Amino acid sequence: MQKVVEIKDLNFSYQEKEVFKNLHLTMESQKFTVVLGPNGSGKTTLLKLLLGFEKGNSVIMLDSLPVIKENLNRIYKEIGVVFENQNQNFVAETVTDELAFPLENLNYGKEEITKAIDQVSDLLNIKHLLNEVPNNLNAGDKQLVALASALIINPKILLIDEGLNNLDLSRKNKILSILKKLVNENQITIIYFTHDSEDTLNADNVIILSNGKVQVANTKEEIYKDENNFLNANLEPPFIIKLSKRLQFYDLIQDDYLNAEKLVNDLWK
Ligand code: ADP
Repeated sequence: MQKVVEIKDLNFSYQEKEVFKNLHLTMESQKFTVVLGPNGSGKTTLLKLLLGFEKGNSVIMLDSLPVIKENLNRIYKEIGVVFENQNQNFVAETVTDELAFPLENLNYGKEEITKAIDQVSDLLNIKHLLNEVPNNLNAGDKQLVALASALIINPKILLIDEGLNNLDLSRKNKILSILKKLVNENQITIIYFTHDSEDTLNADNVIILSNGKVQVANTKEEIYKDENNFLNANLEPPFIIKLSKRLQFYDLIQDDYLNAEKLVNDLWK
């Protein structure tokens, strides 16, 4: 399996504050990887290191390219990023112009731009926002526009830092399943940083960070086998996993369920 991120023996500190010590981490290409960790565990710092905004003592490989100054332009062409705080980041007067902006930078023609805006706004169900002023949108819609703007360049890798937390739960889950589909059908790689263990339900792979270390990294199914993987990092497992474990304890079901509807249906039988 091809690696999209390779980090070996990385140390990183902000002045006196040590964030990572001997960090080892790999992520697979064309997968949806969730990096889960409590606040302060280093998620945003890891994102900044991947983007070359911060530098540690060892060189990170992103999609087989060393993340060093000379490669950053090349790297930025193939990645889309949704940052945590999207509030002040919009520059254009309308959402349409905001979405056109990254493509104009890449010298796309007018027709191609119109087509791409049409496709991405259809995908994320934001057609009704196209004539709005991005800075006037509510926080959830701002996140969707930021996501559309990251997706419009057809990135090979999409990085999202807590970038969907202003959406209500049902919209967030819809978007996560759309992103999952993009990974499966368009072979893109998504790396999603979050403190919310519920988000891992959409992942292929999960990396749990705490105290500047990778506590555990595996497929979500393997991670769910032991609730301590979450508890040791001061996190709770997703609700459906906690429920599955209790029901297994009482011999009512045999395995972990990832889908509440399926669980209810099977219990009802
Ligand atoms: P997370 O995204 O998981 O909440 P961060 O990467 O933002 O974690 O922060 C990791 C640690 O580094 C925290 O203890 C935080 O207080 C500290 N930190 C983050 N940014 C800075 C900074 N610019 N200067 C000093 N310390 C920082």
